[in-house]
Amino acid sequence: MTTRAFIGLGSNLDAPAEQLRSALLALDQIAESRLAGASALYTSDSLLLGQPRYTNAVAALDTTLAPLDLLDALQAIENDQGRVRNERWGPRTLDLDILLFGDQVIDVPRLQVPHYHMHARPFVLYPLAELVAGDFCLADGRALAQLLEACPFVGLERL
Ligand code: ATP
Ligand code: CA
Ligand code: CA
Repeated sequence: MTTRAFIGLGSNLDAPAEQLRSALLALDQIAESRLAGASALYTSDSLLLGQPRYTNAVAALDTTLAPLDLLDALQAIENDQGRVRNERWGPRTLDLDILLFGDQVIDVPRLQVPHYHMHARPFVLYPLAELVAGDFCLADGRALAQLLEACPFVGLERL
């Protein structure tokens, strides 16, 4: 069965826009998966002081992989693009988060979907909105339009 997943992409090291373009090509190469769409790139200041500005986007990926196999594939791409894991939320060449996986709600130690903090991140919600219909709801029933209303387009620049 094919599932549409939405992947959040982020980078704030080593030419972030290039990192995201490479990552989109890599997503399309994942086994049993096809890139179905990608938002524009958005930039915003880091939520943590002193880090470089972030570039973010959201991709739609159609896949027959199981969620944890998709997570493995995403982490392999992060590693290929030089991700070094030091402190939590440290600067990174590439971050790939599973925002949504079809209509599934997942809560296991390695993976929580919908992504726990997507509702409060304008750099996730606005690019996601480019890829879905206006009445789109998250797997847990929250309407994207309401999340957008509660999360103003502040500090975000669409490239
Ligand atoms: P945040 O989760 O706040 O966006 P982060 O992306 O910087 O922070 P990471 O260091 O990239 O966090 O990931 C830490 C762990 O989060 C991963 O090893 C993974 O097992 C787990 N994780 C849980 N839910 C998800 C998800 N929906 N997508 C990706 N990783 C997830
Ligand atoms: Ca993240
Ligand atoms: Ca992550």
